[in-house]
Amino acid sequence: MKLIFLGPPASGKGTYAQRVGPKLGIIQISTGDLLREALKNETEAGLEAKKYMESGDLVPDEIVIRLLKERITREDCANGFILDGFPRTVEQADALGEVTEIDKVVNLVVPESVVLFRLGGRRSCGQCQKVFNINTMPPKEEGKCDDCGGELIQRKDDTDEIIKDRLRVYAEKTSPLIGYYKEKGMVVDVECNQADIPPELMVAQILEKLGVN
Ligand code: AMP
Repeated sequence: MKLIFLGPPASGKGTYAQRVGPKLGIIQISTGDLLREALKNETEAGLEAKKYMESGDLVPDEIVIRLLKERITREDCANGFILDGFPRTVEQADALGEVTEIDKVVNLVVPESVVLFRLGGRRSCGQCQKVFNINTMPPKEEGKCDDCGGELIQRKDDTDEIIKDRLRVYAEKTSPLIGYYKEKGMVVDVECNQADIPPELMVAQILEKLGVN
């Protein structure tokens, strides 16, 4: 199964994709994680992407499309994947459509108040990227990842100023994809009106809407 998780920043794309993936035997691919990894390794793509990521803007399509295409041809994608944070523009969606067929798009419908509350508390593991939230989904031990013990960090682009830009970019460039995929009859809407709804409940809802539970 090949899925796209669509939604504004902090709508829970990563959190739910990390949990839905294993239930379907498919992996989660986050272009944000791929780019942060590229930046850490100081690859050409990573260094080029840096200024866009730090200002909350989108990295140019050409860079992200190249990274994504390379990633989905690897062996661990044979059973399928969940794309988390890709596509983010119509150009990216067109490019994806040229190389593979997607089964369904899970559209996370989340009010802005929930997004803002979650973004401020979001922390992620510096080693395995697992996502926590100090307000709604705290780790068992403060500052430490439950899974690998790695240090939890706040993303540089999760600050108030940059968050506004990221929400504007989502509204302008990414939200048109909801209509793009609705026209193709591929979208399942999943609503989340509460900031602290347990991830397991959302995962159950997503699986139900996908018809696999
Ligand atoms: P994320 O972890 O998905 O919130 O992504 C973090 C940042 O990486 C975004 O604010 C963008 O700067 C960049 N990014 C991630 N995915 C994409 C994409 N598909 N297209 C363009 N930029 C992206």
